Amino acid sequence: MAISRILIANRGEIALRIHRAAHEMGIETVAVHSTADADAMHVRLADHAVCIGPPPASESYLNVASIIAAAEIAHCDAIHPGYGFLSENARFAEIVETHDIAWIGPKPEHIRTMGDKVAAKKSAGELGLPLVPGSDGAVDNVEEAARIAEEIGYPVIIKAASGGGGRGMKVCDSPEKLQTLMQQAGSEAKAAFGDATVYIEKYLGNPRHIEFQIFGDGNGNAIHLGERDCSLQRRHQKVLEEAPSPVITAEERERMGGIVAKAMADMGYRGAGTIEFLWENGEFYFIEMNTRLQVEHPVTEMITGLDLVREQIRIADGKPLSVTQDEITFTGHAIECRINAEDPFTFAPSPGKVSAYHAAGGMHVRVDSGLYAGYSIPPYYDSMIAKLIVYGRNRDKCIMRLRRALEEMVIEGVKTSIPLHQQLIKQDDVLSGDYTIKWLEEWLAERD
Ligand code: ADP
Repeated sequence: MAISRILIANRGEIALRIHRAAHEMGIETVAVHSTADADAMHVRLADHAVCIGPPPASESYLNVASIIAAAEIAHCDAIHPGYGFLSENARFAEIVETHDIAWIGPKPEHIRTMGDKVAAKKSAGELGLPLVPGSDGAVDNVEEAARIAEEIGYPVIIKAASGGGGRGMKVCDSPEKLQTLMQQAGSEAKAAFGDATVYIEKYLGNPRHIEFQIFGDGNGNAIHLGERDCSLQRRHQKVLEEAPSPVITAEERERMGGIVAKAMADMGYRGAGTIEFLWENGEFYFIEMNTRLQVEHPVTEMITGLDLVREQIRIADGKPLSVTQDEITFTGHAIECRINAEDPFTFAPSPGKVSAYHAAGGMHVRVDSGLYAGYSIPPYYDSMIAKLIVYGRNRDKCIMRLRRALEEMVIEGVKTSIPLHQQLIKQDDVLSGDYTIKWLEEWLAERD
């Protein structure tokens, strides 16, 4: 079965990213879009476009029936879900496969396991990944929670089993607050994810967020593509990502990469995935696995020379991994800045019409974005409008080039996070790579 026409079940820069990989492989693309996105760049560039509903995502990008109907009408033989929306919906993956359409993603059972953080943690432990100390599964009463918290020591973090995007998490520093915070976490999780299940973990004081990119062929072979450092976060959301991490040595990369690749091979994992860890005092602690392509995948592409979307499509087409672990080399340094349509320091959303647009260019500069002059950023979706990705032979050269590229970016008519990035890369701690997941919020608080 050779994939010849892919339906792109997403929007924005990632829809364009998928379109580009497909066209470079000689594969046709079908864009599905809401009425709000009729003028989007990926809709213009795709070979065919189908409108699947009104602006709210629940009625368009999350509308399974409309998307499947569009795939059938347009004779698509594969669906790429991108990230967000339906990308980690195991039921959707199953429905796609029952329609004899190739699902460009992991096996549905693996999406399901990893989407439930309690099951994911159990499975990660069985596969030999180091875990954050905590409850052995879900916790449903406060007595049990108190016993576990006492055992691992305060502070602890209460997390939603179905959580995502940093929601449904509560840090608890004393037994008195446990009951209230557990109830809050549970009801927030119920409201956001329809599942009130929570579990407990030791709250790590000052870790870095380090994640490994992996790929499996679904037949017991798997490789790792090194790590990304995503410690610059605000409200548990990544702002800037880099590869390699400034704190991971080649030996550590090989050791930990070997462990995650073996775990994925043993699992029979198929396609792209990311194993996320917190890293503190030289130790890795698994927090979750994402069974999809990540926003920050380009930094890995820059230092490995591999096209991750092409690799995903090849695997969905039943082909083997295009490289062996020995053939993968890590060269130089890459940084990605997420550019959002929002106030750079208050973070208030700023949708609207882009009056002027000019993307940075030049050697080793990549801009993934669907923006153009005259485009209206709709208010209905995520505020990320562009990613600026820059490569350098080493970290210092990469930062110098990033400074130059940020100067060149022009996005007028809306506020963007470009000024935030310009400030960030002037800070001594960022220049020296000395930051943890706490750093950005502390720095922002000091600015006020
Ligand atoms: P989500 O799926 O909602 O993104 P994660 O489990 O990936 O949730 O955690 C998101 C972020 O929350 C992490 O990058 C980290 O900043 C923080 N976090 C999660 N677990 C812990 C923990 N045990 N200790 C300290 N911080 C944590």
